[in-house]
Amino acid sequence: PEVPGVEWDKAPCRFCGTGCHVQVGVQDGKVVAIAGDQQAEVNRGLLCVKGYHVGGILYGADRLTKPMLRVDGELQPIEWDEAIDIVARRIMEAGPKFGMYLSGQSTIPEGYAGNKLMRAGLSNNHLDANARLCMASAVTGFLSTYGVDEPAACYDDLDNCDALILWGNNPAEMHPVLFSRVVDRRIRGDEIEIYDIGTRWTRTTERADHHLLMKPHGDLAIANCVAQQLIEWGAVDEDFVAKHCNFRADRTPETTCKHDDYLAMVAEKGSAGLFGEPIDYAQYKELVSFYTPEKASELSGVPAEQLVMLAKLFANKKRRIVSLWCMGMNQHTAGTAINNLVHGIHLLSGHWGKPGDGPQSLTGQPSACGTVREVGTLSHALPGGRLVVNPEHRAELEQRWNLPEGRMNPEIGFHTVKMFEEFCKPTAEGGAINTIWVQVTNPGQSLPNTKKLFKAKEGQPDKFLIVSEVYPTATTELADLVLPSAMWVEKNGVYGNSERRTQQWFKMVDPPGEARDDCWQIIAVARRLLELGHEGLKDKDGEWLFTIRDDNGQEVPIWEWENYYGSVNVDRALFDEYRQFTFLKHKNVAPYDQLVTHRGMRWPVIETANGGFKETRWRFVEGSDVYVEPGKELQFYHSVTKDDRALIWFRPHQDPAETCSGAYPFMLTTGRVLEHWHTGTMTRRVKQLSNAMPKAYLEMNADDAREMGIANGEEVEVRTARGKMRLPVWLNGRARPPRGTLFVPFFDETASINDLTLDAIDPFSKQPDYKKSAARVTKT
Ligand code: SF4
Repeated sequence: PEVPGVEWDKAPCRFCGTGCHVQVGVQDGKVVAIAGDQQAEVNRGLLCVKGYHVGGILYGADRLTKPMLRVDGELQPIEWDEAIDIVARRIMEAGPKFGMYLSGQSTIPEGYAGNKLMRAGLSNNHLDANARLCMASAVTGFLSTYGVDEPAACYDDLDNCDALILWGNNPAEMHPVLFSRVVDRRIRGDEIEIYDIGTRWTRTTERADHHLLMKPHGDLAIANCVAQQLIEWGAVDEDFVAKHCNFRADRTPETTCKHDDYLAMVAEKGSAGLFGEPIDYAQYKELVSFYTPEKASELSGVPAEQLVMLAKLFANKKRRIVSLWCMGMNQHTAGTAINNLVHGIHLLSGHWGKPGDGPQSLTGQPSACGTVREVGTLSHALPGGRLVVNPEHRAELEQRWNLPEGRMNPEIGFHTVKMFEEFCKPTAEGGAINTIWVQVTNPGQSLPNTKKLFKAKEGQPDKFLIVSEVYPTATTELADLVLPSAMWVEKNGVYGNSERRTQQWFKMVDPPGEARDDCWQIIAVARRLLELGHEGLKDKDGEWLFTIRDDNGQEVPIWEWENYYGSVNVDRALFDEYRQFTFLKHKNVAPYDQLVTHRGMRWPVIETANGGFKETRWRFVEGSDVYVEPGKELQFYHSVTKDDRALIWFRPHQDPAETCSGAYPFMLTTGRVLEHWHTGTMTRRVKQLSNAMPKAYLEMNADDAREMGIANGEEVEVRTARGKMRLPVWLNGRARPPRGTLFVPFFDETASINDLTLDAIDPFSKQPDYKKSAARVTKT
């Protein structure tokens, strides 16, 4: 837009994994306007209500502007030099008891710098990210199905599908711009059916043609029933399966494939691990034959005729079907399993790899894919899709980082829940972590069962919590040292969205006070460690790990803040270094210059004969993905079975970790709302968003409320085995749970529902299940 005195530049939206691009208007050093970016393929000029207000997140009245150290219980301002020195000394003292907790909102250079500091500098794998809480099950689902992480499909599918299946997903509120692509098509007259499979009636349901209301955890039975019906009807795409698929289960059945005998065998032997054991098609058929529509209806609560209808959709080769999912499938103690099953029914029916036809997971955070999954800021991962436990991978990393042999630690570090469990456990009782550095996330509100996993830190003086933040949060409340951070367009950055699209932006305004980039904080601490004599910060030639040179070959002292935005672009230098790792697993991200001129590019990005660069829309598909050999049509070239085939899994239905009982008769689910982003630390500072949705509430079924004599708006007590809180009841609001189900959003720090949630995790992804806590409601 042309506005006198306002300069515009592009940036991805700071919030969700959709990755909309905004135009940021700056005047007199301040962001004064936001517009949807017309050139952006993702959002075509449109934003959701959060996106239109994204500029406001920079200007909350209580921005943190000065480092602060807790002295006698109070946070006192200190200088940056002292703060950096404290962090470095704490890391030295803690040794292997130090953990770093990053984020799906960390930029790619930040994630890469943190990764290098931890793995290469400190030989420490206690590095994890908050994306563990939102999409780790999608990662293990992709890995165990295709042998490599991240979606093969892309958003173009939404423009081409005939049917959209939402698995526990409410995109009308959580990914509204993406959802509007589908709704717009319908308004223009396209025939597109929406199937909403979920545990409550939502704004998405309003637009759905079919609502399959399921019991929490019912999705496993639903997907298995689709497979059972396809087999019974002879509607399996035999040709596709014969060419492209193998079958897997937790264990190879020995003498029988009868469902209950198989379950008993696995219960006795345990799982063979993430990649399971082979089964053949005959065994698979016998195992899923248990999931008749009647049986699956009993397990899932979805009427048998609706299950048959869903199966008929998959049986129809002429329809193009997209499955979309996010937290509903991932925050699940069987999260890996349900991810496997949804991939599996697309593979079994041949609804895979054509425009508008395939499965696609979404992320809640803007760079859960770009930073956490691609850079590898999870405790088992290394950059380039390499793994901590693989000695060849470690040796390769040592060679690329020019490290002495054996520098890389072979032990997988603590995943998020374990890291905080160890941190909160008293040292005398064996607590294996005593210092954590948190950046760009708010575990004090977002961890499950926060009383156990976060608040139990209180009163343990030997535990030290370092928090890089922009506002006071539930996490800074217990921090021993707070480092004020720059955010979004106050710094350079690169993100990667849910469709493999890498997106870059430049710093546009200065951060307030003494707030500084998280990436600089990592580099400054690394330099201080070097000064204190930590040998790990040097490579085997004695050069320090974050050496960055200017065009004249002179090293730039980027650990000094005044030089950080000087003669080099540190973000670019780190991104260029990181980019070399992306070629290792065919995830070639675009060169930085290309990202400067594009609204993101989807990897693998391939250099063309004329020196240009071409992005990839569909991975593993001939004609789209250059790594597919000619004539193969589809090639899963990172296949687990090394034969270019994907795996169709048998995964049985299982009950949730906590079930309802007389004492706790309701099932409590949690989630987000349109106006607020995750724990609300940014959006609650924007008055338009805060006014629109000021407080958390308890959503319950109107008939349940009537029987209990509870009126709309009345404050009640909700209790789980972890604790209790008071919340106002909202009946027949924007969403409506069925009888016996409750919902509370987690954005409100004054009523933090994660004090009450369960901390049970998926055995493979280690992701917690926030959606199924047994609860009771008491009228008070
Ligand atoms: Fe931002 Fe997501 Fe809204 Fe797009 S849909 S404007 S990325 S919050």
